[in-house]
Amino acid sequence: MSDIEALKKELPPFEIFDLIPQYAAAGKIDPEKMDLLKWAGVYPQRPQEDGFLMMRVKVPTAELSADTLRVIAGISEDYGRGLLDVTDRQAFQFHWLSIGNIPDILARLDTVGLHTRGACGDTVRAVITSPLAGLDARERIDVRPIAAAMEGSLSGSKDFEDLPRKFKISLSATPELEGIHHINDIGFLAHEVNGEVGFDVWVGGGLGAVAHLAKRLGVFIKPEQVVEVGRAIAGAYRDHGYRQNRKKARLKYLIKDLGPEKFREIVETEYLGYPMQDGPAAPVARFGGSDVLGINPQRDGLNYVVLSTTVGRINPAKARALAALAERYGEGVLRTTAFQNMMIPHVKTEDLDALIDDLQALDLAPRATLRGTTIACTGTQFCRLALTETKARVAGMIDDLEVKHSDLDVPFVINLTGCSNACTRYQVADLGFMGAQRASKSGIENEFEEVYTVHLAGSIGQAERVGAKLKGAVPAERLTEYTDKVISDFKAHKSAGESFVE
Ligand code: SF4
Repeated sequence: MSDIEALKKELPPFEIFDLIPQYAAAGKIDPEKMDLLKWAGVYPQRPQEDGFLMMRVKVPTAELSADTLRVIAGISEDYGRGLLDVTDRQAFQFHWLSIGNIPDILARLDTVGLHTRGACGDTVRAVITSPLAGLDARERIDVRPIAAAMEGSLSGSKDFEDLPRKFKISLSATPELEGIHHINDIGFLAHEVNGEVGFDVWVGGGLGAVAHLAKRLGVFIKPEQVVEVGRAIAGAYRDHGYRQNRKKARLKYLIKDLGPEKFREIVETEYLGYPMQDGPAAPVARFGGSDVLGINPQRDGLNYVVLSTTVGRINPAKARALAALAERYGEGVLRTTAFQNMMIPHVKTEDLDALIDDLQALDLAPRATLRGTTIACTGTQFCRLALTETKARVAGMIDDLEVKHSDLDVPFVINLTGCSNACTRYQVADLGFMGAQRASKSGIENEFEEVYTVHLAGSIGQAERVGAKLKGAVPAERLTEYTDKVISDFKAHKSAGESFVE
């Protein structure tokens, strides 16, 4: 049994919340219980010896009020040195926290209905919810009520606090626009069959060092079955998943060994107690793996505006300004996307120009450019596993290349990570970079240089493929030059509207 498996048996992981006040009062964490803090969304940040923590906060249904965003901004300002990241699971992330801060942070979050329970750890993580829910004319169903029902019933539930590894769920509303189901443990993809709206269910997607795209269960379930089916699948994973080797513990390995048909049979016979209805495949997005960008019409005549952050990084001043803009031009709500961006919905057409001017002033304009389609993980700045810098390096690259390549007529997705763990999905991007190190050319012993392996033309849309890994690696200082060449070459050879994968 691995150390973490033994620890989970010793203390039910969500009980770590009960120990946080005493750790905070003492100003130190029992090192043996450190790993369980993940279940409260809390990790040690790099370098661990300094004792600072990072925290992830879930945003259930991916929607938050302006006042809630102000609370997030306040926490970042008071405790997190003004750093604030929007993650690729629609959450917020703080850095530079001390254990003594955590009780007050949790209390402040509680005042606005937010929490961190299950934001990390071997449990059901934040459920990715279509940011278009209730807005876009093309959506099949408003998935927000289902997402809300999943919170507590799946994510954060004691029934799933001890899974073999992390477990991720996505809920899409518009198959033509979203493709994130391919890389989640369960992807619920809404579509319509014979005039009835239901969900195609995909299982066993996951990236990490070995990428697996999800497989269809071959079912069509009603909206009211989604939570029940989700619980059945998570239960089957909890009881049948592998626990001996954490590198082989994700659901994707069980699906690979059993096949989706056998796994479906287990789910139906041992957990649901009834067979699910067979169903056809839902159509999938052409540009899976890229955000819905820019200004888009809502079905009620208003507009939703997806603003592009730079690799998810904002700050308290920008967050407060966004809250004010959502109140001035929208209905006082904002959303987070699964691509480190944010959205202001419910904007009148006559207000768009003014809103865009204000967003431009914040460097958060709704751009359908590289800024909107590029994501990067935490990297060496804070992540203990990282081998390379990520966000700052990519931000510099975007600054250099965004204008030059603003004439791209299709999304061009760049995903970069600081190690093979694929938190920002390097295998399913047009141009994916995975951070690594190699011996320095200086010849000095134990001196390493940062490099990135290249993964070309991955996609989780219609093309549905893991990017091809090229030989060799790009030195960090040549990343911008390399990216520039790839995009320039693409533009020189593509036909109008042709994507990189095509
Ligand atoms: Fe850290 Fe690696 Fe994940 Fe990036 S991909 S956040 S470096 S573990």
